[in-house]
Amino acid sequence: MLCIAHHKLQLTVIPYSPDRQQWLQRGGAGSTQLQVLRMGLQAACVVLLIAVCSGVDRRAVNEDAIEAAITLYRSHLSKHIVPAWNQTGHMLHIKSLDEKAGLASPSKKRRLSTDENYSSASSGLVKDLKKVYKHIACTVRLQLTLTERLELLIRKVPLDDQQILMLTNGSLIGLEIDCGAPKLGTFAKDSPPPPQQLQLACVNLVSSAFRTYPSHRDTILEDVFPLMLRLPTGKKSLRALGVNYGSASSPTTLAALNATLVDVTNTQPNIQTITYLILSCIQACVVRPVLDTSDDSPQGQIVSGLKACRAVSEVFVSQLLKRCSRTKDGALEYRPILANIVEDLLQLTLIPQFPAAELVLVCISQRLNQELSAASSSAKTKSHFPPEPTFLTIAFDILGKVMAYQARVLATSRSKPLAIATTIENEPTILQNEVHEVHLACHCGDTRADALMIQCDHCRTASHCSCVGVAPDDIPEEWFCDGCRLGRIALRERRQLGVEAATGIVDEVFTYRHSFLSRLSHRIGVAELVDATQFHLSRWVDEIERNSRSTIDQQATFRQLVQELLTRWEAPVGALGPGTDSLTEEGSSRITLHLLARTSPLCLSFRHQVSLILKLMADESVPMLRKLAVKTIEKV
Ligand SMILES: [Zn+2]
Ligand SMILES: [Zn+2]
Repeated sequence: MLCIAHHKLQLTVIPYSPDRQQWLQRGGAGSTQLQVLRMGLQAACVVLLIAVCSGVDRRAVNEDAIEAAITLYRSHLSKHIVPAWNQTGHMLHIKSLDEKAGLASPSKKRRLSTDENYSSASSGLVKDLKKVYKHIACTVRLQLTLTERLELLIRKVPLDDQQILMLTNGSLIGLEIDCGAPKLGTFAKDSPPPPQQLQLACVNLVSSAFRTYPSHRDTILEDVFPLMLRLPTGKKSLRALGVNYGSASSPTTLAALNATLVDVTNTQPNIQTITYLILSCIQACVVRPVLDTSDDSPQGQIVSGLKACRAVSEVFVSQLLKRCSRTKDGALEYRPILANIVEDLLQLTLIPQFPAAELVLVCISQRLNQELSAASSSAKTKSHFPPEPTFLTIAFDILGKVMAYQARVLATSRSKPLAIATTIENEPTILQNEVHEVHLACHCGDTRADALMIQCDHCRTASHCSCVGVAPDDIPEEWFCDGCRLGRIALRERRQLGVEAATGIVDEVFTYRHSFLSRLSHRIGVAELVDATQFHLSRWVDEIERNSRSTIDQQATFRQLVQELLTRWEAPVGALGPGTDSLTEEGSSRITLHLLARTSPLCLSFRHQVSLILKLMADESVPMLRKLAVKTIEKV
C-alpha cells in the first residue's frame, strides 16, 4: 500500500547533465523511480484483486487505496505509456528547447528529417530518453492487468460518480496509443501486441461503465468527441485493429462474402479502435425485454431491449453530424472521421459480433436524408442560408457508399438463395436407381460429377464434399443438406408450438434466425459475445412482437414464444437448440446475408432511399444538389 502512495511519481525530462549516464543504472535515481513505479502497479493490482473478491468484507478494502489505484492507473497511462509508445511529449519538449537554441544559429533554421531535428547536444538526450521508454514499455503488461482488474471493479463494486468518470476518461486516453508505431522491444508474434491488448482492455472498461452506470452515458459520449481529434492518423496507425470474424460460424466463408459486398478499394481488413469502442458501448446498453401491462391492451406489450441502444446511437450520430455540419470550429477535422467510421461500419455490418453497426448506419443515413431534404426545401423558400456545399458533398458521398452496399447485399442475397425443405415430415425420398442417377444440387452451381460427392439422407440430392466442408477421409454416417437441416429446425419448432398455432410464426425468417442464433450461441470463447448475442435475441423478440400485432388471435402463442426465448437471456451462450442445428459454412454465411437483406431496416429502406435521391435529382431549384444526386446514383 505504501507503494501506491508513490503514484505521484512522474518521469520528467531528465536535465542534461554529465551524470545522466548513471541515471538508469543500478542504484541510479531513474532506476529507483522505475522500481517504485513497478511496485506501485503491482500493489494496485493486489488491492483491486482483494476488492473484487466476492465475500470480502468491505472494510478490508481501504477506500483510499482504491482511489490511489485509480489515480495511478490514469497517470501512468496518460503521462508515461502514451508518450513513450508514441514517442511524443518529452520528445517534443526537447525539440522546442532545440528550436530556442536554433534561433542563435541561423544556419540550422531549415530542418528536414526528424533525425536532423535535434542538435548534437540533445541527440544524446533523445537516445537516453529512448532507453527510458523501453523500460516503460515493459510495464504495459502490468498496466494491462490493472486495467482488467479495474474493469472487474466497475462491474462488482459500486463506485462514486467521480471515480467512474476518472476511470472512463482516463481509459479513453489509451486509444491514443499509436499501434502502428515502431515497436519498442520484442513481443510474442502469435498474440496481438501488448499496446493493442491494452487498448481493447480500455474499451472493455469503458463499455462496462457504460453498461453499469446509465446515468453517465452522455458524459462518456461527450468525452469521445475530443478524443477523435487526438487519435493517430498515420496510414498504418489509423486502422490498427484487425477485423475479427471469430464470432462468425464460418470465419473464412463470411470474410470472403463480406469482401464482395464491401467496397474493394479498402483492401486492408482493419478497422479503427474508435469504431470498436462506439459499437461496444452501444451494444452494452442492451437490456432484457420486459412485458409492459400498464397500457390499455389486455395482453400488454413487449418493451424492446434495444431502446437504450437506439437512443445512444441517435445521440452519438446527431452529435457527430452536428460537428460535421458546422461551418467552422473543427468541422474540417470531423468530416474525414465521419467518413472513416462509415467505412468501418460497412465492413462490420455482416459480422455477428457487431449487430450495432447496422443500427448506427441506419441512424446516419436517416439523419443525412433529413439534412438533404431540409437543404432542398430551405433553398426553395430562401428562408435559411444554404448549408455548406462541402458538407453536402460529404453527405452525398456517404449516402452513395451506403446505397451501393445496400444494392450489393440485395443482389447477392438474390443470387444465393437458400430454400427450406418443406417435405421433411415425409419419409425420405426413395429413388429406384439411386446409384445411376444422382441429382447434383451443390450450392457452387458447378455440375462436375467426377469429384467426391455426399448425398443428403433426406432429399437425396448430392453436393461436392469439398463445397460443404466434409473431409474425404471423414465422411459422416448421416448427413443432411442445408435446406433439410433448416427444414428439421422448422419442423421441431412447429411441433413444439403446436402445428396450428405455429402457422404464421415459424416462417422462413424465423427459421433462419433460429439457426443463426443457435450457431452464435455455440461459439467458443463467447464471454465477450454476450452483449452481441443478447442484442440479436432482442432484435428477434422485437420482430416476433411486431408480427404479433397483425394477428391478434394468436398473441398468446407469440407471448409464449417470447417467454421461451427470454429464458435463454441470462445464459445466451450455448443454450439455443442442439448443436446439430448448425448449417454448413456456406449455409450459415448465406443465412447471415439473408437475414440482413430481409429483416434489416438498412436494406429495407433501400427503395425509399433511392426515391429520395431521385426526388433531389428532379429538384430544379438547387442545381448543386441535383448534380451531386446524379453522381450518387451513378455509384449504385
Ligand atoms: Zn460444389
Ligand atoms: Zn436434403
